[in-house]
Amino acid sequence: MKGFEFLQEQLEDMKKEGTFRNLIPLESAQGARVTIKGKEVIQLSSNNYLGLTSHPRMEKAAEEAIEKYGVGTGSVRTIAGTLKMHEDYERKLAEFKHTEAALVFQSGFTTNQGVLSSILTNEDVVISDELNHASIIDGIRLTKAGRKIYKHVDMDSLEQALKETQDYRTRLVVTDGVFSMDGNIAPLPQIVELAEKYDALVMVDDAHASGVLGKNGRGTVNHFGLDGRVHIQVGTLSKAIGVLGGYVASTQTLKDYLIHKGRPFLFSTSHPPAVTAACDASIDVLLEEPELIEKLWENTKFFKNGLKELGFDIGISETPITPVMVGDDALAHRFSDQLFEEGVFAQGIAFPTVQKGKARVRTIVTAEHSREDLQEALHAFEQAGKKLKIID
Ligand code: PMP
Repeated sequence: MKGFEFLQEQLEDMKKEGTFRNLIPLESAQGARVTIKGKEVIQLSSNNYLGLTSHPRMEKAAEEAIEKYGVGTGSVRTIAGTLKMHEDYERKLAEFKHTEAALVFQSGFTTNQGVLSSILTNEDVVISDELNHASIIDGIRLTKAGRKIYKHVDMDSLEQALKETQDYRTRLVVTDGVFSMDGNIAPLPQIVELAEKYDALVMVDDAHASGVLGKNGRGTVNHFGLDGRVHIQVGTLSKAIGVLGGYVASTQTLKDYLIHKGRPFLFSTSHPPAVTAACDASIDVLLEEPELIEKLWENTKFFKNGLKELGFDIGISETPITPVMVGDDALAHRFSDQLFEEGVFAQGIAFPTVQKGKARVRTIVTAEHSREDLQEALHAFEQAGKKLKIID
């Protein structure tokens, strides 16, 4: 069909630059090893931190929910699509997060969008770290509030932004808890101190910290002992939790407001019973199987040390997200392709997901990887890195 030539030209340019990518379907379940293009490879690109995508207890909960309640809800939450299990789960999640209330959205992306776009007006301002996730950026684009971007984790820059915005009614400082591309942790204690000094609210996106940091995976707020001092905790149920969805953990006031004004919550159908039941069971898993998080961190340390010993630049990561920096966009994709040849699936991440010149292969180990998996993966990195002259 004619009419899309203007898009086709851009795609051709991407092909010339070497940045055009096809989607890569898995032919097996998610896990430490997956099948892609008929080949078994070590998975280092998923966010399945704890291996919960196929946890037996969560699968059983999902199966039972389907049998009892079917596969869908047939309505948005605010009309006829709230099941008792949605509310039970939100209560359990709030208790887990040590907050007054919690509200579940369809995804982490729509949670950020829904919160940021609905709670602020042109009398307010949002102050955001320059490397915050795309869903925060899009949420900010949708709000009528003023915007200030501060330099990445730079507390002088944040303080400057707070000083310059004293005339606004409400100031909301928003940060990722763990930054998704570099794997560094936000300096939350300093952010909270500054926010308290200048009377601002704080919102943390714990997408990569839920199930990873804090006691039993309660997130960055709990990790830093800041329970009760961060106004809004947002997170996803699709990474360490292994299912789908996003949550806001905060006050009953914010929850009630979002039920009335949070557009993705209002206008999009509620989660199927299997999703909610599996998420509900995940809290029991987090509480009763702390060894999963211990294993995740053990694996993280082993793999990071291995990469460093081989001479790779792993940036400023402090978490299971470990970027292997290469710089050039096309080289990142070639490195990823070569790793696949060597038996490892680790995606190249290039512009526009990261800045030009900061392309990388991003790795995430999980609790499911065995020592053997990780040793084999390090050997693949050594082979591919030497072949492409990324290391000597
Ligand atoms: N915030 C951050 C920091 C993320 O990395 C992601 C996932 N890419 C999201 C939000 C969105 O979460 P979800 O995949 O549940 O939409």
